[in-house]
Amino acid sequence: MSLAATALQNSQQQASAQRANGPITATNNLVKQYGTGSTTVNALAGVDVEINRGELTVIMGPSGSGKSTLMHCLAGLDTPTSGSVEVAGTEIAGLNQRQLTKLRRTEIGFVFQAFNLIPTLTAAENITLPLELAGESIDSKWFDKVVAAVGLEDRLQHRPGELSGGQQQRVACARALLARPAVVFADEPTGNLDSQAATDVLQFLRDCVEEFAQSIVMVTHDPLAASYAHRVIFLADGQIAGELLYPTVETVLATLVQISEGAGDGEGTGNSEGSGESRGTGESKRAGNIRETDASERAAGASA
Ligand code: ADP
Repeated sequence: MSLAATALQNSQQQASAQRANGPITATNNLVKQYGTGSTTVNALAGVDVEINRGELTVIMGPSGSGKSTLMHCLAGLDTPTSGSVEVAGTEIAGLNQRQLTKLRRTEIGFVFQAFNLIPTLTAAENITLPLELAGESIDSKWFDKVVAAVGLEDRLQHRPGELSGGQQQRVACARALLARPAVVFADEPTGNLDSQAATDVLQFLRDCVEEFAQSIVMVTHDPLAASYAHRVIFLADGQIAGELLYPTVETVLATLVQISEGAGDGEGTGNSEGSGESRGTGESKRAGNIRETDASERAAGASA
Protein backbone atom coordinates (compact mmCIF):
# COMPACT_ATOMS: atom_id res chain seq x y z
CA MET A 1 0.00 0.00 0.00
CA SER A 2 1.30 3.49 -0.86
CA LEU A 3 2.18 6.00 1.85
CA ALA A 4 -0.75 8.19 0.82
CA ALA A 5 -3.17 5.25 1.00
CA THR A 6 -1.81 4.26 4.41
CA ALA A 7 -2.19 7.84 5.66
CA LEU A 8 -5.77 7.92 4.36
CA GLN A 9 -6.56 4.61 6.03
CA ASN A 10 -5.06 5.84 9.30
CA SER A 11 -7.08 9.04 9.24
CA GLN A 12 -10.26 7.08 8.47
CA GLN A 13 -9.54 4.74 11.37
CA GLN A 14 -8.99 7.73 13.65
CA ALA A 15 -12.24 9.34 12.55
CA SER A 16 -14.10 6.10 13.09
CA ALA A 17 -12.53 5.68 16.54
CA GLN A 18 -13.64 9.22 17.43
CA ARG A 19 -17.20 8.46 16.33
CA ALA A 20 -17.14 5.29 18.41
CA ASN A 21 -15.91 7.47 21.27
CA GLY A 22 -18.94 9.77 21.03
CA PRO A 23 -20.53 11.17 24.16
CA ILE A 24 -21.38 8.74 26.95
CA THR A 25 -24.44 10.82 27.70
CA ALA A 26 -25.96 13.84 26.01
CA THR A 27 -29.01 16.07 26.15
CA ASN A 28 -30.80 17.98 23.43
CA ASN A 29 -32.93 20.99 24.45
CA LEU A 30 -33.61 19.34 27.80
CA VAL A 31 -36.38 21.05 29.73
CA LYS A 32 -37.55 20.10 33.21
CA GLN A 33 -40.37 21.99 34.82
CA TYR A 34 -41.81 21.48 38.26
CA GLY A 35 -45.32 22.62 39.11
CA THR A 36 -47.85 24.23 36.79
CA GLY A 37 -49.25 27.66 35.96
CA SER A 38 -47.88 30.60 37.90
CA THR A 39 -45.94 28.30 40.23
CA THR A 40 -43.99 26.63 37.41
CA VAL A 41 -40.25 26.32 38.12
CA ASN A 42 -37.98 25.91 35.10
CA ALA A 43 -35.34 23.74 36.74
CA LEU A 44 -33.76 23.06 33.32
CA ALA A 45 -34.50 25.59 30.60
CA GLY A 46 -33.19 23.96 27.42
CA VAL A 47 -29.87 22.27 28.16
CA ASP A 48 -27.68 20.96 25.34
CA VAL A 49 -24.70 19.13 26.69
CA GLU A 50 -22.45 16.26 25.70
CA ILE A 51 -20.47 14.38 28.34
CA ASN A 52 -17.34 12.78 26.92
CA ARG A 53 -16.42 9.15 27.44
CA GLY A 54 -13.48 8.32 29.66
CA GLU A 55 -13.47 11.67 31.42
CA LEU A 56 -14.26 12.97 34.88
CA THR A 57 -16.83 15.70 34.25
CA VAL A 58 -17.97 17.98 37.06
CA ILE A 59 -21.25 19.90 37.15
CA MET A 60 -21.15 23.09 39.24
CA GLY A 61 -23.33 26.12 39.77
CA PRO A 62 -25.13 28.11 42.42
CA SER A 63 -27.70 26.42 44.62
CA GLY A 64 -30.93 25.99 42.68
CA SER A 65 -29.21 26.25 39.28
CA GLY A 66 -30.39 22.77 38.26
CA LYS A 67 -27.37 20.55 38.98
CA SER A 68 -29.28 17.77 40.73
CA THR A 69 -32.10 17.92 38.23
CA LEU A 70 -29.65 17.59 35.33
CA MET A 71 -27.86 14.68 36.98
CA HIS A 72 -31.15 12.94 37.78
CA CYS A 73 -32.34 13.35 34.19
CA LEU A 74 -29.02 12.06 32.81
CA ALA A 75 -29.18 9.06 35.14
CA GLY A 76 -32.77 8.16 34.29
CA LEU A 77 -33.94 8.96 37.83
CA ASP A 78 -36.15 11.83 36.68
CA THR A 79 -38.26 12.24 33.54
CA PRO A 80 -37.71 15.32 31.34
CA THR A 81 -40.64 17.61 30.56
CA SER A 82 -39.33 17.82 26.98
CA GLY A 83 -36.16 17.32 25.01
CA SER A 84 -34.01 14.24 24.82
CA VAL A 85 -31.50 12.44 27.00
CA GLU A 86 -29.22 9.75 25.65
CA VAL A 87 -27.20 7.46 27.92
CA ALA A 88 -24.71 4.94 26.58
CA GLY A 89 -26.36 5.05 23.18
CA THR A 90 -29.95 4.67 24.45
CA GLU A 91 -32.55 7.44 24.20
CA ILE A 92 -34.32 7.27 27.51
CA ALA A 93 -37.39 9.35 26.64
CA GLY A 94 -39.30 6.39 25.24
CA LEU A 95 -38.37 3.83 27.89
CA ASN A 96 -40.93 2.40 30.31
CA GLN A 97 -40.10 1.91 34.00
CA ARG A 98 -38.90 -1.65 33.54
CA GLN A 99 -36.56 -0.66 30.71
CA LEU A 100 -35.31 2.34 32.71
CA THR A 101 -34.57 0.14 35.72
CA LYS A 102 -32.65 -2.28 33.51
CA LEU A 103 -30.67 0.58 31.96
CA ARG A 104 -29.79 1.98 35.40
CA ARG A 105 -28.76 -1.47 36.63
CA THR A 106 -26.56 -2.33 33.68
CA GLU A 107 -25.15 0.98 32.46
CA ILE A 108 -25.15 3.35 35.43
CA GLY A 109 -23.36 3.41 38.77
CA PHE A 110 -24.25 5.79 41.61
CA VAL A 111 -22.24 7.28 44.44
CA PHE A 112 -24.20 9.43 46.89
CA GLN A 113 -23.13 11.92 49.53
CA ALA A 114 -24.71 9.75 52.23
CA PHE A 115 -22.86 6.56 51.12
CA ASN A 116 -26.15 4.54 51.27
CA LEU A 117 -24.53 1.36 52.59
CA ILE A 118 -26.50 -1.41 54.33
CA PRO A 119 -25.33 -1.29 57.97
CA THR A 120 -25.81 -5.00 58.67
CA LEU A 121 -23.73 -6.16 55.72
CA THR A 122 -19.94 -6.29 55.51
CA ALA A 123 -18.04 -4.06 53.11
CA ALA A 124 -17.61 -7.01 50.71
CA GLU A 125 -21.34 -7.83 50.87
CA ASN A 126 -22.24 -4.18 50.26
CA ILE A 127 -19.98 -4.08 47.21
CA THR A 128 -21.49 -7.19 45.65
CA LEU A 129 -25.11 -6.58 46.71
CA PRO A 130 -26.40 -4.92 43.50
CA LEU A 131 -25.06 -7.74 41.33
CA GLU A 132 -26.35 -10.39 43.78
CA LEU A 133 -29.80 -8.79 43.69
CA ALA A 134 -29.68 -8.75 39.90
CA GLY A 135 -28.79 -12.47 39.94
CA GLU A 136 -25.55 -11.78 38.12
CA SER A 137 -22.25 -13.49 38.70
CA ILE A 138 -19.33 -11.68 40.30
CA ASP A 139 -16.11 -11.43 38.31
CA SER A 140 -13.71 -12.18 41.16
CA LYS A 141 -10.67 -10.82 39.33
CA TRP A 142 -12.42 -7.53 38.67
CA PHE A 143 -13.69 -7.50 42.29
CA ASP A 144 -10.09 -7.87 43.53
CA LYS A 145 -8.89 -5.14 41.19
CA VAL A 146 -11.57 -2.67 42.24
CA VAL A 147 -11.08 -3.44 45.94
CA ALA A 148 -7.32 -2.96 45.56
CA ALA A 149 -7.85 0.30 43.69
CA VAL A 150 -9.88 1.71 46.60
CA GLY A 151 -7.43 0.28 49.14
CA LEU A 152 -10.02 -1.79 51.00
CA GLU A 153 -8.34 -5.20 50.97
CA ASP A 154 -8.05 -5.37 54.76
CA ARG A 155 -11.48 -3.89 55.48
CA LEU A 156 -13.70 -6.24 53.51
CA GLN A 157 -15.14 -8.05 56.53
CA HIS A 158 -15.91 -4.83 58.43
CA ARG A 159 -19.42 -3.42 58.65
CA PRO A 160 -20.00 0.24 57.71
CA GLY A 161 -20.20 1.26 61.38
CA GLU A 162 -16.63 -0.01 61.83
CA LEU A 163 -15.32 2.07 58.92
CA SER A 164 -14.42 5.76 58.65
CA GLY A 165 -16.46 8.03 56.39
CA GLY A 166 -13.76 7.93 53.75
CA GLN A 167 -13.62 4.13 53.86
CA GLN A 168 -17.42 3.93 53.61
CA GLN A 169 -17.39 6.18 50.57
CA ARG A 170 -14.68 4.04 49.00
CA VAL A 171 -16.91 0.99 49.58
CA ALA A 172 -19.69 2.89 47.80
CA CYS A 173 -17.30 3.69 44.92
CA ALA A 174 -16.28 0.03 44.63
CA ARG A 175 -19.97 -0.97 44.64
CA ALA A 176 -20.66 1.49 41.82
CA LEU A 177 -17.78 0.16 39.73
CA LEU A 178 -18.28 -3.57 40.20
CA ALA A 179 -20.95 -3.87 37.51
CA ARG A 180 -18.63 -2.08 35.04
CA PRO A 181 -21.19 0.64 34.34
CA ALA A 182 -20.86 2.79 31.25
CA VAL A 183 -21.04 5.88 33.46
CA VAL A 184 -20.88 6.61 37.18
CA PHE A 185 -22.86 9.53 38.61
CA ALA A 186 -21.48 10.90 41.88
CA ASP A 187 -23.63 13.38 43.80
CA GLU A 188 -21.48 15.45 46.18
CA PRO A 189 -19.42 12.33 46.98
CA THR A 190 -17.05 14.24 49.27
CA GLY A 191 -19.73 16.36 50.97
CA ASN A 192 -19.57 14.35 54.23
CA LEU A 193 -15.82 13.76 54.32
CA ASP A 194 -12.87 15.47 55.98
CA SER A 195 -10.29 16.90 53.63
CA GLN A 196 -7.89 13.93 53.64
CA ALA A 197 -10.69 11.41 53.06
CA ALA A 198 -12.12 13.67 50.36
CA THR A 199 -8.74 13.84 48.63
CA ASP A 200 -8.46 10.04 48.70
CA VAL A 201 -11.91 9.59 47.16
CA LEU A 202 -11.28 12.25 44.50
CA GLN A 203 -7.93 10.76 43.59
CA PHE A 204 -9.58 7.35 43.35
CA LEU A 205 -12.30 8.69 41.05
CA ARG A 206 -9.69 10.34 38.87
CA ASP A 207 -7.60 7.12 38.84
CA CYS A 208 -10.66 5.16 37.70
CA VAL A 209 -10.84 7.39 34.67
CA GLU A 210 -7.13 7.08 33.90
CA GLU A 211 -6.77 3.35 34.63
CA PHE A 212 -10.17 1.88 33.73
CA ALA A 213 -11.32 4.54 31.22
CA GLN A 214 -14.38 4.94 33.43
CA SER A 215 -16.70 7.84 32.54
CA ILE A 216 -17.70 9.77 35.67
CA VAL A 217 -20.06 12.71 36.17
CA MET A 218 -19.84 14.42 39.54
CA VAL A 219 -21.88 17.22 41.09
CA THR A 220 -19.94 19.25 43.63
CA HIS A 221 -19.84 22.67 45.30
CA ASP A 222 -16.16 22.33 46.07
CA PRO A 223 -13.63 24.00 43.72
CA LEU A 224 -10.89 21.68 44.95
CA ALA A 225 -13.03 18.65 44.06
CA ALA A 226 -13.76 20.23 40.68
CA SER A 227 -10.03 20.65 40.04
CA TYR A 228 -9.72 16.85 39.76
CA ALA A 229 -11.98 16.90 36.70
CA HIS A 230 -11.05 16.96 33.05
CA ARG A 231 -13.89 19.36 32.47
CA VAL A 232 -16.26 21.47 34.53
CA ILE A 233 -19.69 22.42 33.20
CA PHE A 234 -21.30 25.40 34.92
CA LEU A 235 -25.04 25.83 35.26
CA ALA A 236 -26.96 29.00 36.10
CA ASP A 237 -30.74 29.38 36.06
CA GLY A 238 -31.20 25.98 34.47
CA GLN A 239 -28.91 26.66 31.53
CA ILE A 240 -25.29 26.01 30.64
CA ALA A 241 -23.36 29.10 31.72
CA GLY A 242 -19.82 28.10 30.79
CA GLU A 243 -17.23 25.37 30.90
CA LEU A 244 -13.60 24.88 31.81
CA LEU A 245 -11.19 22.28 30.54
CA TYR A 246 -8.38 21.13 32.81
CA PRO A 247 -9.64 23.30 35.64
CA THR A 248 -7.66 24.57 38.60
CA VAL A 249 -9.05 25.77 41.92
CA GLU A 250 -8.37 29.36 40.83
CA THR A 251 -10.06 29.13 37.44
CA VAL A 252 -13.07 27.36 38.95
CA LEU A 253 -13.43 30.05 41.62
CA ALA A 254 -13.03 32.84 39.07
CA THR A 255 -15.69 31.28 36.83
CA LEU A 256 -18.10 30.82 39.73
CA VAL A 257 -17.68 34.50 40.65
CA GLN A 258 -18.29 35.58 37.05
CA ILE A 259 -21.36 33.39 36.82
CA SER A 260 -22.85 34.65 40.05
CA GLU A 261 -22.14 38.25 39.00
CA GLY A 262 -23.76 37.54 35.63
CA ALA A 263 -26.83 35.91 37.19
CA GLY A 264 -29.59 38.45 37.44
CA ASP A 265 -27.97 40.97 35.07
CA GLY A 266 -30.81 40.50 32.65
CA GLU A 267 -28.81 38.56 30.05
CA GLY A 268 -29.62 35.06 28.98
CA THR A 269 -27.37 32.26 30.14
CA GLY A 270 -26.20 30.85 26.85
CA ASN A 271 -23.68 28.10 26.37
CA SER A 272 -20.20 29.56 26.25
CA GLU A 273 -19.11 27.09 23.60
CA GLY A 274 -18.99 28.74 20.25
CA SER A 275 -20.63 31.89 21.58
CA GLY A 276 -17.51 33.97 21.04
CA GLU A 277 -17.96 35.50 24.47
CA SER A 278 -17.59 33.31 27.43
CA ARG A 279 -19.48 33.84 30.63
CA GLY A 280 -16.76 31.99 32.44
CA THR A 281 -13.13 33.00 32.43
CA GLY A 282 -11.40 33.64 29.16
CA GLU A 283 -10.28 30.04 29.42
CA SER A 284 -13.71 28.55 29.49
CA LYS A 285 -13.85 28.10 25.75
CA ARG A 286 -12.68 24.70 24.72
CA ALA A 287 -10.30 25.81 21.97
CA GLY A 288 -8.53 28.32 24.16
CA ASN A 289 -8.11 26.08 27.13
CA ILE A 290 -6.02 23.09 26.20
CA ARG A 291 -3.20 22.56 28.62
CA GLU A 292 -0.75 19.76 28.97
CA THR A 293 -1.38 18.65 32.50
CA ASP A 294 -3.46 19.59 35.46
CA ALA A 295 -1.61 17.71 38.18
CA SER A 296 0.93 20.36 39.07
CA GLU A 297 -1.67 23.08 38.73
CA ARG A 298 -3.98 21.18 41.02
CA ALA A 299 -1.25 20.88 43.61
CA ALA A 300 -0.54 24.58 43.24
CA GLY A 301 -4.25 25.35 43.51
CA ALA A 302 -4.66 23.21 46.59
CA SER A 303 -1.84 24.95 48.39
CA ALA A 304 -2.93 28.44 47.38
P1 ADP B 1 -29.27 22.46 42.46
O1 ADP B 1 -28.98 20.99 42.49
O2 ADP B 1 -28.40 23.22 41.52
O3 ADP B 1 -29.28 23.08 43.83
P2 ADP B 1 -31.93 21.63 41.74
O4 ADP B 1 -31.76 20.85 40.49
O5 ADP B 1 -32.10 20.86 43.01
O6 ADP B 1 -30.73 22.68 41.87
O7 ADP B 1 -33.21 22.59 41.60
C1 ADP B 1 -33.40 23.46 40.50
C2 ADP B 1 -34.70 24.23 40.70
O8 ADP B 1 -35.80 23.32 40.66
C3 ADP B 1 -34.78 24.93 42.07
O9 ADP B 1 -35.48 26.14 41.89
C4 ADP B 1 -35.57 23.95 42.90
O10 ADP B 1 -36.26 24.63 43.92
C5 ADP B 1 -36.53 23.37 41.88
N1 ADP B 1 -36.91 21.98 42.21
C6 ADP B 1 -36.08 20.91 42.27
N2 ADP B 1 -36.78 19.80 42.58
C7 ADP B 1 -38.07 20.18 42.70
C8 ADP B 1 -39.29 19.49 43.02
N3 ADP B 1 -39.31 18.17 43.23
N4 ADP B 1 -40.42 20.21 43.08
C9 ADP B 1 -40.43 21.55 42.83
N5 ADP B 1 -39.32 22.26 42.53
C10 ADP B 1 -38.16 21.59 42.47
